[in-house]
Amino acid sequence: MNIYKNYSLLKHNTFHLNTKTHKFIEYESEEDLQKILEETRSPNEPIYHIGHGSNILFLNDFKGTIIHSNIKGIEIIKEDKTHILLKVGASEDWDSFVSYCVNKGWGGIENLSLIPGEIGASAFQNIGAYGAEISNVVEEVHAYSLTTKTKQIFSNKECKYSYRNSFFKESKEIFYITYVVYRLLKTPQFILNHDKIKSYLYGKEINLINIRKAIIAIRQLSLPNLKIFGNAGSFFTNPYICIDHYEKLKKQYYNMPCYFVDNKIVKVSAAWLIEQCGGKKEYIGGASVYEKHALILINKNNATGQDISILAEKIQSMVKNTFGIKLKPEVSYL
Ligand SMILES: Cc1cc2nc3c(=O)[nH]c(=O)nc-3n(C[C@H](O)[C@H](O)[C@H](O)COP(=O)(O)OP(=O)(O)OC[C@H]3O[C@@H](n4cnc5c(N)ncnc54)[C@H](O)[C@@H]3O)c2cc1C
Repeated sequence: MNIYKNYSLLKHNTFHLNTKTHKFIEYESEEDLQKILEETRSPNEPIYHIGHGSNILFLNDFKGTIIHSNIKGIEIIKEDKTHILLKVGASEDWDSFVSYCVNKGWGGIENLSLIPGEIGASAFQNIGAYGAEISNVVEEVHAYSLTTKTKQIFSNKECKYSYRNSFFKESKEIFYITYVVYRLLKTPQFILNHDKIKSYLYGKEINLINIRKAIIAIRQLSLPNLKIFGNAGSFFTNPYICIDHYEKLKKQYYNMPCYFVDNKIVKVSAAWLIEQCGGKKEYIGGASVYEKHALILINKNNATGQDISILAEKIQSMVKNTFGIKLKPEVSYL
């Protein structure tokens, strides 16, 4: 276990913010984590678990302890003719795991290629992209409760997954994920209903490797290069509105892209809403909206966490005033 004081979080957040934390602890095992949980802490001292920091916005220095897992390993725990169950350490890199599985011929996560972050956060966040969601392949999640200081194993049902959400995100009791067990397919069923994937694969053999290549190529074209512009991917989630609200908007904005969740609820494109009300041109200090994708806020030039959050608020109020829709940040503020 490594403990650092007055530690810079620059390497631990993809917005490239040079904020600090009073204490930073990196643990190697479940036993280490148990020790951290059992340590007496002043009730006023906050504690927070991070992964790779690709969905977090640090507003100020953190006056408490940030913990990070260094639990590694990919272990086959069960397999039959059709499925394979893999137990993976929370700090394994998500995309390296996708690459490993694709090369082995195990399907179910290939559409989630190139999403930054770690295994623990994948199950916490219910990551999703191009028609796939982690909720479809999570078998169980191993986690420790900060309150009871004991380990619990959650089944997929107990994780209560929904769009970019989970039991862990919503629960008042805080849980730290140590391992995730994924159930992957030995005979993959491809998800190809996205137009860009279809056109990339036109004339090519449909297999896991080519789908991964397609997703990587599409993402590299539409997302900013993380080494140049700090960002956290989509800053807001796509909002859900009721059908009556949608019908009213549709009269004025006939080309509004949407997806019918059921006969009462419609999911609307947050990027389209931002673009329509002119949000793409906005900036605050060194923070601005990425020119190729309205949903991505970038650290263009030495932005502070405050710059990024004020820009986000400005965009939220533009969308609210124009469409009566409240955008919800996907990014967690700290
Ligand atoms: C360029 C870019 C593109 C992106 N594209 C997508 C995309 O297509 N789809 C998508 O869903 N997301 C996307 N994201 C968001 C991000 O990659 C995911 O949310 C990812 O799962 C975050 O992983 P992380 O390890 O960086 O977690 P962090 O950002 O460090 O943490 C995210 C949350 O998870 C919690 N957490 C982390 N590890 C643990 C743990 N072990 N136990 C308990 N809680 C934990 C944290 O407390 C925090 O609340 C993108 C981000 C970027 C920068």
